[in-house]
Amino acid sequence: MSKYIFVTGGVTSSLGKGIIAASLAKLLQARGFTCTIQKFDPYINVDPGTLNPYEHGECYVTEDGAETDLDLGHYERYLNTFTSQANNVTTGRIYQHVINKEREGAYLGKTVQVIPHITDEIKRRMLLLGEDKQFDIIITELGGTVGDIESLPYVEAVRQLKWEMADDCIVVHLTLIPYLKAAKELKTKPTQHSVKLMSEHGLSPDVLVCRTEEPLYKELRRKIALFCNVTQDAVIEALDADTIYSVPLEMMREKLDITCLQKLGLPLGKDPDLSKWTEFLNKLRYPKTKVVIGLIGKYVELQDAYKSILEAFIHAGAVNECKVEIRNIHSEYLTRENAVEKLQHLDAVLVAPGFGSRGIEGKIEAIRYARTNKVPFFGICLGMQMACVEFARNVLGLSKAHSTEMDPDTNQGVISMMESQKNITQMGGTMRLGSYACDLKEGSAVSKMYGSTAITERHRHRYEFNNEYLEAFEQAGFMPVGVNPQTQLVEVVEMKDHPFYIGVQYHPEYKSTVENPHPLFVAFVKAAKEAQEQRNSRAVKAADIIAS
Ligand code: GLN
Repeated sequence: MSKYIFVTGGVTSSLGKGIIAASLAKLLQARGFTCTIQKFDPYINVDPGTLNPYEHGECYVTEDGAETDLDLGHYERYLNTFTSQANNVTTGRIYQHVINKEREGAYLGKTVQVIPHITDEIKRRMLLLGEDKQFDIIITELGGTVGDIESLPYVEAVRQLKWEMADDCIVVHLTLIPYLKAAKELKTKPTQHSVKLMSEHGLSPDVLVCRTEEPLYKELRRKIALFCNVTQDAVIEALDADTIYSVPLEMMREKLDITCLQKLGLPLGKDPDLSKWTEFLNKLRYPKTKVVIGLIGKYVELQDAYKSILEAFIHAGAVNECKVEIRNIHSEYLTRENAVEKLQHLDAVLVAPGFGSRGIEGKIEAIRYARTNKVPFFGICLGMQMACVEFARNVLGLSKAHSTEMDPDTNQGVISMMESQKNITQMGGTMRLGSYACDLKEGSAVSKMYGSTAITERHRHRYEFNNEYLEAFEQAGFMPVGVNPQTQLVEVVEMKDHPFYIGVQYHPEYKSTVENPHPLFVAFVKAAKEAQEQRNSRAVKAADIIAS
C-alpha cells in the first residue's frame, strides 16, 4: 500500500510548499522509493487553464494534456518523471464531479453536503494515484494556507484520512519563523498560532518545516517542538536559498527525508546519491561566462508567467557552464523605431508564447530585428506564429499577413484556426493540448539538436500554420522542418542562412528537467554564446583597425 505525506502551509502564502514537496520527493526518490506529488488547489476554476497569468502565473501542461498549476512543473523538473491529469485537482473539479453525480441521481435522495460528500470526493481523489500500487509514497500538496475558508474541506479530509490510515499518513506543515530586525530575534509565535489553528480543526503536524532568514538555534527548535507538539528532530530549518535547486540538499542536511520515513514506519532505503544534482548545482553557481537573452513577452514583469521557460534556461545555462541573464522586454513598448536601441545588447532573442493582440506588433518587430541582424532567435508557440507573420509581411510581401486570432478578417491568414477548433464554443480544456508526435526532416538543424527525427512535444494552442502558404515560405528559405505525421500540421520552422532561427508550435520548456535539459534550449544558449564571441571579436577587430 502507498504511504501518504500531506504538505500544508501556514502563516502566509508563497513560502514555497511546491519546492519543499518536490525536494522531499527528490530525496525519497534518491533513496529508492517510487514517489509522486499531487496538488490540490482550493479555487473554483475547474483547472487553471482559463486563468490569466496575472492571477496564477504560468499554466503548466502535462503529457496527457492537463492544464495544471505551475507547481507540477517543479515536480517534473525535480523528479524527472511525468505527472498527469490526476496530479492536479481543484475545488471546481471536485464540485463538478459531485454535482454531476447528484444530477445522475447517484445520491439516492440524500441531501448532498460538504461533509461527507465533498470531503469523500476529496479523499477519493487524494487516494486515486495510490490505487494501482505504482508508488511507494504519494506527496500531496494542499494549496493555500490552513485557516483559509476555502481550504477547510481539504483539512477536514486530511483529518479523516489520518484517522483512517494511522501510521500510513503524516502531515508536514510549512511555516514561517520571522526575524524581527528591531528586536534582533526570531519569532515563533506565528508558527504557534498556525499550529493551534490546525489543531482546532483536529489536525496536528508531524513535521514542521520552518522558513527562516536566520539559522534556528537549538533552544529555539526545542521551544517550537514543545509548543507545537512535534518531536525535536521534526523541526526542520529551511533557510532562504540562493537557488531553488539547492533546497533538496538543504533538506537532506536537515534530514527531512529520514524524519518522514521514520514517522511513516518505512526503512531508510539506500543513502541518497545526489552527486549529479550537486554537479548541476556547481555549474549553476560557478558559471564561466554569461549571456544576455531578451525575453519578449507581455507578462515580463511577472516572475511566474514564464516559469518553465526561465527554468529551462537555468538547466541549459548549466550545461553550457554559462549564466543566462534574462532581460525582460515588454513587447507592448517595442517598435520598429526603438528596436535597435532596445535589442542591440542582447546575445539572443526569445519570443514568448501568449494569447491575444496586446503587444503583438512589438513581438513581430523583435523577430524582424533578429532575422535581419542574424541574432539567434527562438520563437515558442505564439512566438513561432509571429515569426511566420513577420516573414510573410516583410519577405513574401503579404502586407496584410496575420494570424486570424488577431485579425479574423484578413485574407492573408498565414496562421489560422485549426479545423478541429472551429466549432468549439467552450473555453476550458478545449485547445490542442498535451503531447503530439512530430517528424523532423533529416539533416535539419533541429534534428541534429535533438539527435533524432522522431520527437514528441507538448502543445497548448488553437491556431496553426496555414499549409496553403507552405510552398511560398519554403521557396524563400523559411523551412517547415517538423510536421505532425497524422495531420501534417507544421510544428517546427527554421531558416536557411541564419546562425539560429527556430520557431516551434509546441512548448519545449515543459519538458526541460535538471537531469534532461531540453536540447533546443541547450543549443539556443550555445548559439547565444557564439553570437557574443563573434560580436566581441568583431569589436576587437574594429578597435585594431581604428588604432592602426
Ligand atoms: N494564441 C496562440 C494559439 O492559440 C498561441 C498559444 C500559445 O502561445 N500557447 O494558437
